[in-house]
Formats: sequence, structure tokens, C-alpha cells
Amino acid sequence: MILALTREETKILEEQNCIRCSECLNACPVNLQPISISNAYRAGDIEETKRLGVLNCIDCGACSYICSSKIDILGDIRAVKQKVLESR
Ligand code: SF4
Ligand code: SF4
Repeated sequence: MILALTREETKILEEQNCIRCSECLNACPVNLQPISISNAYRAGDIEETKRLGVLNCIDCGACSYICSSKIDILGDIRAVKQKVLESR
């Protein structure tokens, strides 16, 4: 199948700013603050991601799925988990 999206349609798929709706928090089955972990990772603060419990993430993807701003939260969380595990 070939997808032929218009410029306007592709914009919908681009990451937008967080609107602080808290839906990613509500969706997380292990009560993490997914966007806070993502923000800490993007700020380079790995210690803060650990404090926020990044290693408790079960990789379900609910946070990314629910996010209307299409923020790649799961991608960030996976990346930081990898970094934390490698540094052990
Ligand atoms: S992927 Fe991790 S942080 Fe996101 S909702 Fe699932 S458990 Fe929570
Ligand atoms: S679901 Fe998306 S827009 Fe809403 S608070 Fe989480 S990261 Fe921000």
C-alpha cells in the first residue's frame, strides 16, 4: 500500500508542544509521569529520570498512544532506560 498524504495531513503526525492535559499520566498503568521523564531525558537529566522511576516502565506504549500532541514519549523512555541500564 502506498500512502500519499498531503502537506496538511503530515502536519498532524508531527510532534506538537505538550498541552499539559495529563492524559499520559492517567494512562500509565504503573503510575509514572511519562512526560516528566521525557522532559528530563531531553534536558539531559538522567538522574531525574531515575528519580521519576523510569526503570518501572513496562514499555506498554499507552502514554505515546494517548498523547494528542504526538510526543514520542515511549521513544524517549526506551532511550533513557537503555542508558541507565548500560551505566550499571
Ligand atoms: S510506556 Fe511506560 S511510561 Fe508509558 S504508559 Fe506504559 S508504563 Fe507508563
Ligand atoms: S498526553 Fe501528551 S500533551 Fe498530554 S500531558 Fe502527556 S505529553 Fe503532554
